[in-house]
Amino acid sequence: MRRSLENVPAYLAGKPAAALPGVESFKVSSNENPYSPLPEVLDALSFSQINRYPDFSNARLRDLLAAKYHLVTDNFATGTGSVGVLQQIVQATCNFEDEILHAWRSFEAYPIVAAVNGAVSVPVSLRGDESHNLDAMVAAISPRTQLILICQPNNPTGVAAKRDELVHFLDRVPAHITVVIDEAYVEFITDTRIADSLDLFHRYKNVAILRSFSKAYGLAGLRVGYAIAHLELAEAIRKCTLPFGVSTIAEDAAIAALKHEDKLMVRVAHLLEERTRVSEALTSQGWKLSDSQANFVWMRLPGKTELFTQSAAEVGLSVRPYGEEGVRVTIGEDEANTRFIELASRFFTEFGQF
Ligand SMILES: *Cc1c(COP(=O)(O)O)cnc(C)c1O
Repeated sequence: MRRSLENVPAYLAGKPAAALPGVESFKVSSNENPYSPLPEVLDALSFSQINRYPDFSNARLRDLLAAKYHLVTDNFATGTGSVGVLQQIVQATCNFEDEILHAWRSFEAYPIVAAVNGAVSVPVSLRGDESHNLDAMVAAISPRTQLILICQPNNPTGVAAKRDELVHFLDRVPAHITVVIDEAYVEFITDTRIADSLDLFHRYKNVAILRSFSKAYGLAGLRVGYAIAHLELAEAIRKCTLPFGVSTIAEDAAIAALKHEDKLMVRVAHLLEERTRVSEALTSQGWKLSDSQANFVWMRLPGKTELFTQSAAEVGLSVRPYGEEGVRVTIGEDEANTRFIELASRFFTEFGQF
């Protein structure tokens, strides 16, 4: 086997909730959208065409995205989820043993995608407030750095870099290094001090943006995401496309979701109200939370992570533990959120401050 695979960590996916007799269980471990698909999305799926290959270039979807963002079709590259597109970006930019800088903790697909493609992942610790340490990231740039990933907002801590910080950072990154702003949760950002990434994209020739249909748009099971990139990079990303990776059904669903975006954003607005309800309840219980700009909250639970995860399972909630550092809990169905608030209260009363 290839040497670089030896260090590839296994992806630990969020688990479904275990069934409990007489209690409805909720999976709040994978940041999925709790709503079932819109009828308009289901109606748009062309199942009668599944004997045909999909359009290799996803031109219908890319045309629609170009209109939405006032860019051209060739600024877009699609893939099997934004993780699939990230893999294409790594393949398009990194030679063997080139370095990819990213924060840590951050999205656990980053070190995997780096290693699988023969690149070297260089993790840079978050600051105490769970935000990216952009100064340390600049300091970590080496002659081998090809790619920098900014997880905006960061999964699993929920914190997003402010506009000023990001501009100051981008001003210091050499122009030959590609900076990818991974915005899987961009629709959940409410803090107006956070940068509009499209504006940064227009200002910096080395910035690309990753977007997903998996979270706000509720299509995690269909696997479709995209990059917004300058023309040369976008073309290189498309060259690395897994042939026919995005199915016609996935493309149909993404197009329908964009067309009915207003309906989906009503759902997002409700999830944001729920995020506020959960955050305020936990804060008043005494928890010190980071400022989540995503559809989840992060609780640091040093030494108590497994215990909390177990306690959650006992009330029918599957949460996402990270070693013994803490847990990430998705804002899900209202009832799941209420149950989480109750659990957090009991846990805090019993074990106190962390
Ligand atoms: C969920 C997530 C993705 C999206 O993945 P898809 O492949 O589009 O489902 C990308 N980046 C981060 C940080 C995520 O949390």
